[in-house]
Amino acid sequence: MFCPRCGSVMVPTRKDGSIYLKCSKCGYEVKGDESKKYNIRHQVEPSKRVLTAVASEARESGLTPEEREMLREYYEVFLEEFERSEGEESESD
Ligand SMILES: [Zn+2]
Repeated sequence: MFCPRCGSVMVPTRKDGSIYLKCSKCGYEVKGDESKKYNIRHQVEPSKRVLTAVASEARESGLTPEEREMLREYYEVFLEEFERSEGEESESD
C-alpha cells in the first residue's frame, strides 16, 4: 500500500464511516472499496503475509524501526476494522 503519486507509505484512516488510505507525505487519498473488503475477508492469512512484505518494503524505503512498528500496527488495526464490520453485517442478516 504505497502512494501511486509519490511512492510513500499510505496509512489507513477512517472518515465518514469509511476507510481511506492516505499518503503521509503528499496527502493523496484513496477510498477502501468493497471488493477489497471481501478480498480481505477471504484472505486473512495471505493479508498477514502481505504485512511482512510491506515491512520488508518499508525497510527498503529507509524507514526507522519505530516507523516500521507504527506502520505494522496501523495495518493490524486496518484489518481488524474490516473483520469487525464483516461480523456486524453477518449478525444483522
Ligand atoms: Zn504521496
